[in-house]
Amino acid sequence: MAAYEPESGYADAASTTNALAASARELGAAIVQHVPVEALLVSGNRVTGVRTAGGDIQAPTVVVCAGLWAPGLLAPLGITVPIAPTRHQMCFFRRPPGFETHPGIIDRPSGTYMRPETGNLTIVGLSAYREVVDPDQYNEGADAQEVMRNAELIANRFPVMEHGLSMGGYSGVYDVTPDHEPVLGPIPGITASTPTSAGAGTASSTRPPSGTSWPSRSSRGERPGGTSNPSGGRGSGTATSCRRRRRPTRRIRSSTPRRRAS
Ligand SMILES: Cc1cc2nc3c(=O)[nH]c(=O)nc-3n(C[C@H](O)[C@H](O)[C@H](O)COP(=O)(O)OP(=O)(O)OC[C@H]3O[C@@H](n4cnc5c(N)ncnc54)[C@H](O)[C@@H]3O)c2cc1C
Repeated sequence: MAAYEPESGYADAASTTNALAASARELGAAIVQHVPVEALLVSGNRVTGVRTAGGDIQAPTVVVCAGLWAPGLLAPLGITVPIAPTRHQMCFFRRPPGFETHPGIIDRPSGTYMRPETGNLTIVGLSAYREVVDPDQYNEGADAQEVMRNAELIANRFPVMEHGLSMGGYSGVYDVTPDHEPVLGPIPGITASTPTSAGAGTASSTRPPSGTSWPSRSSRGERPGGTSNPSGGRGSGTATSCRRRRRPTRRIRSSTPRRRAS
């Protein structure tokens, strides 16, 4: 069984973030970049601002959206945020002539996803990895066996990719919570600090409803508590619990490493 969404797509992360920042500036927001927050300023049970390398900034409301680094900012307040920094490997494959493009695909039975990238490339990754790492120091490359595994997965979905070419890959760090949902809402017992962090891809896709729903809930003093998904949307936890079937091996040409999938 499959679901096809003709209107769906994907957003380039850097372009999207810069577009949001540009719109915020147009609406009067001041954005300060390259100035790390060193600590949250607290008075009693109230967060009053942030300490930065450039000086203290007082604020009536502080939203901690520091992703993988949110736990470190909140720990001094005695708050534990359950984010596991998990190394996530992505691999590139060049599509062979004649295979111009394809839809973005989430292949839950195989536990993988793939989408076209510029330069006749397709980018492929597993839905879930389990290697917890230090987000400030980890292997940013892709492992050879991971390249081979993804070569098999893409050739299984698109048999023509047996004639594709591996173009290596890279690693980033995913912000994984126990239920793969974002950590969202006011902190119980602490006024004027709201974490909204993590949750991996699901968090990105639920950002729009999150953005409209939680400020009003927050101002009314409601506490979602723990992790929550305000949209009730798709939990990527479903994907991680999928059983992987053993599949027939397929060949794909590889430039890095120069080995054939057996
Ligand atoms: C390899 C990879 C592939 C992915 N693919 C997808 C995908 O296909 N689809 C999808 O939906 N999601 C994907 N994700 C997940 C997605 O990127 C994250 O869920 C999303 O970026 C989290 O957004 P965020 O704003 O919570 O945190 P982040 O994007 O991590 O932003 C946090 C920001 O806070 C800043 N910061 C941290 N500490 C401080 C501090 N002390 N002071 C000031 N600033 C600070 C950081 O520099 C960073 O800019 C992928 C992730 C990885 C690693």
